[in-house]
Amino acid sequence: MPVLLPYPFPGPFDYRVPPGLEPKPGDVVLVPLNRREEVGVVWDAPADEAVPAHKLKAVVRILDTPPMRESLRRFIDWIAAYTLSPPGEVMAMALRVVSGAGRPVIRYRRADPLPAVRMTPPRQRVLDVLGRQEPRLAADVLREAGVSAAVLRGMIEAGLLVTETAAPNAPFQRPDPEHHGPTLSEAQHEAAMALREAVARQSFSVTLLDGVTGSGKTEVYLEAVAACLRAGRQALVMLPEIALSSQWIERFQRRFGVAPAVWHSDLPSRVRKITWQAVAEGTAPVVVGARSALFLPFPDLGLVVVDEEHEAAFKQQDGVVYNARDMAVVRARLSGCPAVLASATPSLETVANVEAGRYAHLRLTSRHGGASMPKVTLIDLRETPPDRGRFLAPTLIEAVNQTLARGEQAMLFLNRRGYAPLTLCRHCGHRMQCPNCTAWLVEHRTRNQLLCHHCGHTIPIPPECPVCAAKASLTPVGPGIERITEEAALVFPEARRLIMASDTIAGPHAAAAAAHSIEEREVDLIIGTQLVAKGWHFPHLTFVGVVDADLGLAGGELRASERTVQLLHQVAGRAGRAEAAGQVMLQTFVPDHPVMQALLQGDLDAFMESEAESRRDGEWPPYGRLAALIVSADSAIMADTVARDLGWTAPRGDGIIVLGPAPAPMALLRGRHRRRLLLKVRRDVAIQPILRSWLASVRVPRGGRVDVDVDPISFL
Ligand code: ADP
Ligand code: ZN
Repeated sequence: MPVLLPYPFPGPFDYRVPPGLEPKPGDVVLVPLNRREEVGVVWDAPADEAVPAHKLKAVVRILDTPPMRESLRRFIDWIAAYTLSPPGEVMAMALRVVSGAGRPVIRYRRADPLPAVRMTPPRQRVLDVLGRQEPRLAADVLREAGVSAAVLRGMIEAGLLVTETAAPNAPFQRPDPEHHGPTLSEAQHEAAMALREAVARQSFSVTLLDGVTGSGKTEVYLEAVAACLRAGRQALVMLPEIALSSQWIERFQRRFGVAPAVWHSDLPSRVRKITWQAVAEGTAPVVVGARSALFLPFPDLGLVVVDEEHEAAFKQQDGVVYNARDMAVVRARLSGCPAVLASATPSLETVANVEAGRYAHLRLTSRHGGASMPKVTLIDLRETPPDRGRFLAPTLIEAVNQTLARGEQAMLFLNRRGYAPLTLCRHCGHRMQCPNCTAWLVEHRTRNQLLCHHCGHTIPIPPECPVCAAKASLTPVGPGIERITEEAALVFPEARRLIMASDTIAGPHAAAAAAHSIEEREVDLIIGTQLVAKGWHFPHLTFVGVVDADLGLAGGELRASERTVQLLHQVAGRAGRAEAAGQVMLQTFVPDHPVMQALLQGDLDAFMESEAESRRDGEWPPYGRLAALIVSADSAIMADTVARDLGWTAPRGDGIIVLGPAPAPMALLRGRHRRRLLLKVRRDVAIQPILRSWLASVRVPRGGRVDVDVDPISFL
């Protein structure tokens, strides 16, 4: 019997089934592995025939956990095959919740009426603990009553306890689709109708919900969620950044009367278990979550929504490298339900799928309630530079002052944490670098530290240059958000300021509190990193100033332009979402750059069209396929050797190109030496088989590894 274990083995292991057990595919089982007992899942892949039956170890027992459904198993296999990850490693993401416990996650209730059987003090204690109300988890009963699991088992056999898999008192209340429906505009109504129909068909489809910021996309797809609820099925809504979920959850609550189930990797383990169980039982009708929510055990998924589908945050870079946006579509296909991708700035991939007729397309072209799109202007930093040592141009300062004078809120955006991205010795020119990474140390003045944003390495800010020992010679170069805050304190001394960056806003609660203080107008000036860019709806915010619009263009990565347009358009979209008109100013050194012109003219379509054109010419994604091989090793020599070997055995053929090996831009990361190769194939060439045989052709010594990134979006 094949059992998949949550480890990076190449496939399932074979186990013997002892008499009396009848494990079926999907059952969660306990099996011996290296003298321990491990939780695994009975898989459907054929067993490895190499081991003779009498040598096989036996399955210990079947856990009382809801079995892993066929659609989730196929999903895991699919991701493993697509990303070239070991299936067990993918499965671990779906199992993590259960495996920690190794104990059945079911609830117990006292039988009513109680049968007339022998009563012992331990049994009585269990009944007392259980009381008459809600069913309880076994672990809690065992702890509170101080009895052994055998007592519980005996009581179940004696009919004193009833186990519940579908709890009547579910931890999540049912959202009411009729609670507070919005009055939709005509365009919104049409889009909502189309989505409702997609949900009603109960079959796979993908729809791009494409609408300018503030057009009411959320409002519209919540109607699809309502339709899904009416049909009695479950809905999953994926958000790129769970820190942004507070406003979203409040909105959901206004629409449906109750909060949805929330899922992300930082949930306390108890909440995780309860949520997981409720999803498995179907008593969590709507889940809003981050990437990992894809692996929840939905028995009856009726809708998957991916909000801000263009977001790079959907790509998981560690462990199993996958794009949750794409995998959400796969999950929908395997579950036979519709997927909705929402964005004001859809990715080129999604647009290409629309053009190829694979995805349906719904558009909302104007903001809700007559709000207009913000007016964008460019500040040419070559012509109107800031004062020496400053970063805010006079025009920008003037505009912020006017906004504040009108009693409205303003926002300054800079996508860089800390005080300064580079610290330099004025005397000898030495630059403070991370010893573990190809990266400068970033000054964080409030903490009096230099910090590596890649590995977390920190040192106190040295009083003198570590190379030439010159005193007080270390100088910050360039601005980070802390430095802008310092400048803002000088220039706008009266304004009540709020910094929103991941350093200052730790977690969803802090984000919710910050959002509230903005909504309540306790803040005049918001200074933020990308944390402020997306999703938020601040009705009194009318001005957005982008301190360095060119930031994302450096480096010249494949998607640099696309991503900069998306990010800046999102940031700009925070301005003027209610009655008062919004204004956006972008500080740039390259006002003629197509990105700046697209933002200035508000014509993203034309920009994306020309972007698509150039990618089509070079057969770059989405008009070709890419996979990156990242070699990393303890030593530079080993990294070079493995990379060179891969270069020698590189696949050849029609429509296949290999670029590299080359040192990665981050040639050193967390103390590991890195080299990159890039495989580029024509769209009609399947990339996985090529990768598989390529990887098999090279021996990787201990201390070295080769990571595969299919459809890479970062090239560091
Ligand atoms: P998007 O997601 O497209 O940026 P939202 O869904 O956030 O837009 O809508 C912007 C604002 O307009 C929100 O405050 C939302 O509640 C409001 N809104 C949108 N459509 C309606 C509607 N039909 N009725 C009432 N409010 C609406
Ligand atoms: Zn580092």
